[in-house]
Amino acid sequence: MAGSEGTRPVVLVTGGAGYVGSHTCKMLAGAGYLPVVYDTLERGNAWSVRWGPLEQGSLMDGDRLRGVIRNCNPVGVIHFAAYTYVGESVADPLMYYRNNVLGTVSLARAMMAEGVGRLVFSSTCATYGIPTGVPIDEATPQVPINPYGQSKLLAEQALALAGAAGGLSTVALRYFNAAGADPDGEIGEAHDPETHLIPLALAAARGTAPPLTVFGTDHDTPDGTCIRDYVHVNDLASAHLAALGHRIDEGGFFACNLGTGTGTSVRELIALTEEVTGRPVPHSYGPRREGDPAALVADRRLAHSALGWEPRLSDPRNILQTAWTWMQRQDDVTRSG
Ligand code: UDP
Repeated sequence: MAGSEGTRPVVLVTGGAGYVGSHTCKMLAGAGYLPVVYDTLERGNAWSVRWGPLEQGSLMDGDRLRGVIRNCNPVGVIHFAAYTYVGESVADPLMYYRNNVLGTVSLARAMMAEGVGRLVFSSTCATYGIPTGVPIDEATPQVPINPYGQSKLLAEQALALAGAAGGLSTVALRYFNAAGADPDGEIGEAHDPETHLIPLALAAARGTAPPLTVFGTDHDTPDGTCIRDYVHVNDLASAHLAALGHRIDEGGFFACNLGTGTGTSVRELIALTEEVTGRPVPHSYGPRREGDPAALVADRRLAHSALGWEPRLSDPRNILQTAWTWMQRQDDVTRSG
């Protein structure tokens, strides 16, 4: 493993076979790191682990985690591994608490036992719940409205308390809507089931998915549909690299938003999808989806001032173009992988 890979510094990436995790692994390798992926492959994809070794294992297996950490001696850990479906979290909250909260505690304990102190944690704007206004800054009260958001908030709190007690320092990155794909078309979003707007709209245009249902046209927004802040997955990845080197002066815990500060409505997104693909997006209008806030847009000033982070690829047309290219290549990549 790492020891035989020369002098490249190792980063352990839990959930590195997933969507944001795999894009971050590619970027880590490009920056001279060796990403060692720790993933159950329960939801991640083996074909997306291409830039370093795969260690198949569960976060709940503390002994195995300790062994992997001891062997690869990472300079830090980036922790993506989590369940991320809101609906599923409502149906089975304990599964989310076990995986997302206890899994994070298990990882942090293994890191501390092996003397690895630097953690970058994949968090979410779902920890804010229904915000009092937009844009959302980090001082916004965190009042999640579903077990998924709650599980991520509890994990943040556990890491913050561990940091205050000493031995661990965490940068938590609260993503807004991750979207888009590797501009080279090597990897991209491949959820099963797919519930996200952009892949569903593109697949509807391509004719490989049923017509899109727009969830609600009576939201308190200018065109009545929900507004979200879509961030290109490679912009998210670059923030993780910046976070690895971020100095945390106090308390062992720092959290910031990752969003562009610009919102796009569902109607606007459909129009842009038609423009980028040159095809109509068959769609109909349905009721609101339960728990969907009308608008979620990030205040991104802290990520800029603290991490020097700028979203460079997150123009919605670019997000759609890269996701479209990926969708057309995806079958070849996943078959050959
Ligand atoms: N959405 C929609 N139809 C769909 C899926 C999503 O209208 O089939 C809307 C959803 O209500 C939300 C936005 O698209 O306002 C983005 O949803 P997504 O599930 O992609 O991300 P979320 O914001 O829930 O994390």
